[in-house]
Amino acid sequence: MRKKFLPVALLFGIGFLLFAVCGGVRMAEHAAVFAQTEEQKTIYLTFDDGPSTVVTNRILDTLRRERVRATFFIVSDRALTRRETLRRIAEEGHAIGIHSASHDYGKIYSSDAAFAADVDECARVIEEIAGVRPRLYRFPGGGPNKEEREQKELFIRERGYRIVSWNAVCGDEEIPYADAATLVRQSIATSKGKRSVVLLMHDSAHHAATADALPAIIGYFREQGYEFRLFSESLAPVLP
Ligand SMILES: [Zn+2]
Repeated sequence: MRKKFLPVALLFGIGFLLFAVCGGVRMAEHAAVFAQTEEQKTIYLTFDDGPSTVVTNRILDTLRRERVRATFFIVSDRALTRRETLRRIAEEGHAIGIHSASHDYGKIYSSDAAFAADVDECARVIEEIAGVRPRLYRFPGGGPNKEEREQKELFIRERGYRIVSWNAVCGDEEIPYADAATLVRQSIATSKGKRSVVLLMHDSAHHAATADALPAIIGYFREQGYEFRLFSESLAPVLP
């Protein structure tokens, strides 16, 4: 009896395995069909100009509570005195991108050499402090003038970085002294009708209102059926 039981059990085991594998394939096929017919609305939360001690940590608290991940474009000179905060961003699973070492437009865009030095220094500091090699880049101040832009973009891509722009803003730089309610309204207004939203926000020291507004901003997009995503190298460029 015992001798017979073993092959039967083995047969059942193999059968179950086959069923599980085929079922998995079917599920994957279903997901692909779903993606084609009903495009998922997606939002990428992005924060520039940090880290700062109070604002960035408040933003990280909210993201942790809401189980949402975001992308932070770092000013590395500011990270040098806020190492713990930069490490926390990485440890909690957020994406880290290069923004600038100094965020001083006059300096960064003064020459090709200065631009290259700024990008490389920011990447170096991020890797040294957070232990991650950044793969994303966002131009400080929206980028250089039109004539120089193409060449700078080429440089960034040759370095292996993906350039990330935005297509919606919360208004924390555009509207002077905006309160949290204004930032929520502006996020909604500028993302209206877009199925893929890249929302520009800031987490430097004077952006307390952005930290105040974040729970309501997340709540709105969640209610509207958006999925919160992180940028990754595998994703095609999202934006103009
Ligand atoms: Zn900036």
